[in-house]
Amino acid sequence: MRIGILGGGQLGRMLALAGVPLGYRFLFLDPSAEAPARDLGEYLCAGYDDRAGLARLADSCDVVTYEFESVPASAVHELLRRRPVRPGALALETAQERFAEKSLFQRLGIPTAPFAPVDSLLEFRDALDRIGYPAVLKTRRHGYDGKGQAVLRSAADADHAWTSHAGVPLLIEGHVPFIRELSIVGVRGADGALACYPLVENRHHAGILRLTIAPAPAVDDALQQRAEDLFALIAQALDYVGVLAVELFQTEGGLLANEIAPRVHNSGHWTIEGARTSQFENHIRAIAGLPLGDCSAFGPAAMVNLIGSTPERDAVLSILGAKLHLYGKSDRPGRKLGHVTLLADTPEDLRARLGELAAAVPGIESLL
Ligand code: AMP
Repeated sequence: MRIGILGGGQLGRMLALAGVPLGYRFLFLDPSAEAPARDLGEYLCAGYDDRAGLARLADSCDVVTYEFESVPASAVHELLRRRPVRPGALALETAQERFAEKSLFQRLGIPTAPFAPVDSLLEFRDALDRIGYPAVLKTRRHGYDGKGQAVLRSAADADHAWTSHAGVPLLIEGHVPFIRELSIVGVRGADGALACYPLVENRHHAGILRLTIAPAPAVDDALQQRAEDLFALIAQALDYVGVLAVELFQTEGGLLANEIAPRVHNSGHWTIEGARTSQFENHIRAIAGLPLGDCSAFGPAAMVNLIGSTPERDAVLSILGAKLHLYGKSDRPGRKLGHVTLLADTPEDLRARLGELAAAVPGIESLL
């Protein structure tokens, strides 16, 4: 069986690293000549709108998936004429448009920040009157890692944000005074079976995920169950097959959904070493129609993203329990170049190892 992947980034690379031992071969389609997945299978350097490339991907694979949520939905529709694409177009289209995404949560009765679509200055003022300050203005499309966002704390912020964002569809939402950010990563099989990883805690810097603590500390059974219930509602509504991540805010009043990622997720990278079945293997199992694997964690783990510059390998690997993953990219500010998973027997050991890692990886000290 051959699996086609739209996108050849690090997620595609880690999917292939999990799928090859199961006996699958991979074909990637990516517009970049230097995609991180290119050494792990056959590689088709073509645009996502290249119909001949898409036809080749479909015709030479049994099932197609995507590892990048900005692939145009038209590419998925084109592929769907020839082959199953898992997850399907609905999940992709919903995740690509913040209003559609928040509206789905609302339809399912899942709490969110108050939100309103904004297409004109009148709607902007009206939404601000209702939602109040502080608020967050976001582009409805192509927003990730905090891009295309502005926090509005005053009328002056609002004026400024309006002039710099006007012209594209926008969404305004209330600024959530969250206690912390959590995510639930789970998987839905082709037969509708569901499995979720433990909730994890995510810490960001400059809009980019830096650190994931897994399992998140201080999560009782009720909170985990609540997150799994929200996950199930969303996955079922989207008739989803594969790994899905739901990003959540934990507040005094409970969990609010922020957004979904219709793919394997950065906050699930710890599962490669830290869980009985990695998110990558579970995604492959789901899209190939296989039984899902056990999502439980072996013990405390953390995942630290390597952003902008690559640390010395020996500085990382001299730390007990550290596993290094480099994606084969060259250094560039703000770029995700790799990650480190830290495993430990106790939360105290994990904290100590994170302290050691902070000496080798700049930018995480302030998040510990
Ligand atoms: P997003 O692109 O929606 O995932 O937002 C990126 C980050 O911005 C989130 O992980 C939060 O840290 C922050 N953020 C986004 N929306 C809100 C909100 N409504 N209230 C508070 N913080 C937010």
